[in-house]
Amino acid sequence: MRCVLCVLALLCILCQTTQAELPPNVIVIYADDLGWGDLACYGHPSIRTPHLDRMAAEGMRFTEFYSAAEVCTPSRAALLTGRYPMRNGMCHDQFRVLRQNSKGGLPKDETTLAEALKTKGYVTGCIGKWHLGHLPEHLPPQHGFDEYFGLPFSNDMRPTPTSPPGRDKFYVEKNEYWATPLIRGTDIIEPQPDQRLLTRRYTEEAVKFIRTHNAKPFFLYFPHTFPHVPLFASDKFRGQSPAGIYGDVVEELDWSVGQVLDAVRQEGLAERTLVVFSSDNGPWLIFDTHGGSAGLLREGKGSTWEGGMRVPGIFWWPGKVKSGVIQREMALTMDVFPTVCKLAGVDVPTDRTIDGRDISPLLFGTGTVDREVFLYYRGQTLYAARLGVWKAHFITRSAYGNDKSESHEPPALYNLRVDPSERFDVAAKHPDVVASIKVAVDKHVSELKPAPSQLIETVPAK
Ligand code: MG
Repeated sequence: MRCVLCVLALLCILCQTTQAELPPNVIVIYADDLGWGDLACYGHPSIRTPHLDRMAAEGMRFTEFYSAAEVCTPSRAALLTGRYPMRNGMCHDQFRVLRQNSKGGLPKDETTLAEALKTKGYVTGCIGKWHLGHLPEHLPPQHGFDEYFGLPFSNDMRPTPTSPPGRDKFYVEKNEYWATPLIRGTDIIEPQPDQRLLTRRYTEEAVKFIRTHNAKPFFLYFPHTFPHVPLFASDKFRGQSPAGIYGDVVEELDWSVGQVLDAVRQEGLAERTLVVFSSDNGPWLIFDTHGGSAGLLREGKGSTWEGGMRVPGIFWWPGKVKSGVIQREMALTMDVFPTVCKLAGVDVPTDRTIDGRDISPLLFGTGTVDREVFLYYRGQTLYAARLGVWKAHFITRSAYGNDKSESHEPPALYNLRVDPSERFDVAAKHPDVVASIKVAVDKHVSELKPAPSQLIETVPAK
């Protein structure tokens, strides 16, 4: 009997050692068009997000976290490659997002985070909205993901013949107005899924993925369809939020985050799982109460004012990421790629420029991160640049309607710490700052021109 107990104890120790030596699991939850001001932990007064608030309280909440673009497709390409859209080919000036009849997708020679992690034996899954090419040769299974379940592009991209013209159709929760297909692997499994059930179905898939792969290191990329318009929520959440239908949708997303974190905890994986929550771009303001809020930040989706590209950023890993920290240092969705590679023991590709930085010193409270200039592109056009606390706008454009672009020479200059709403242009008082930003920009822009072969075909087919 004593012998048996000894063997069991030894097995237990061996098992624990093996678990401890495994690289961390990684889950990236990515909302669509969720604004910087849309969560309670970011100051929203009436949308209730207890699970994200708890995630932030147990982890680190960034106040200056940036997407690399102000719309969906280039933002996702940058997150998954750690590179500016200008480098990874997803930067068409006019068609800044892939359309339902675009032929292109993320170039094959780009290395996604999933492909990088596969080299260390990770199981990889993508659940949700892809939007990096909808043809079979561009879907997640062609970019390092073992499993895929979700919509290939935005939920507004395939209106049906019964869908009324104009914007009105966006304000009605009618599933028959939309026919964005649901895909598993590379096969369309439902041509017109019920959008009210999408968040719930994605969440069930995500929880199943976590439980199924609990013994292996895994990477789950979980880009939600919502709160991109048209807005849909399940019966349990519809009509429940004080903030109306937009609140219903965000509160269901918050529930989903709670389900994912609960699954991680229940599987005993909390201390070896990094979970990241963010959004691809700012709120789509032209949709009135069906669009979100950037809080005190100026403008929203489609604009390079702060509201278009500064987004929520929450990192959670009990025992590793400093808990209860409001992090005011700047960080980027592009940082996720090199940070996760470092944590997983994967060498980042050396045959190309990775624009993100390893921010694990910030996350673990062990140091700082050197940061050069951050560039705000819209398509292939440079609109603004941030160096330290200063942001210079060379071109500005409103997020609303069809407003024209406005060029600025000298550039408009804002101190983002003193004036986060970008209200007071102080360029005339600080010509030295403007000059130093221009020097920093010149250094980068000269090498940020995409090769023609890298520019993918985003133009919709006739
Ligand atoms: Mg978006």
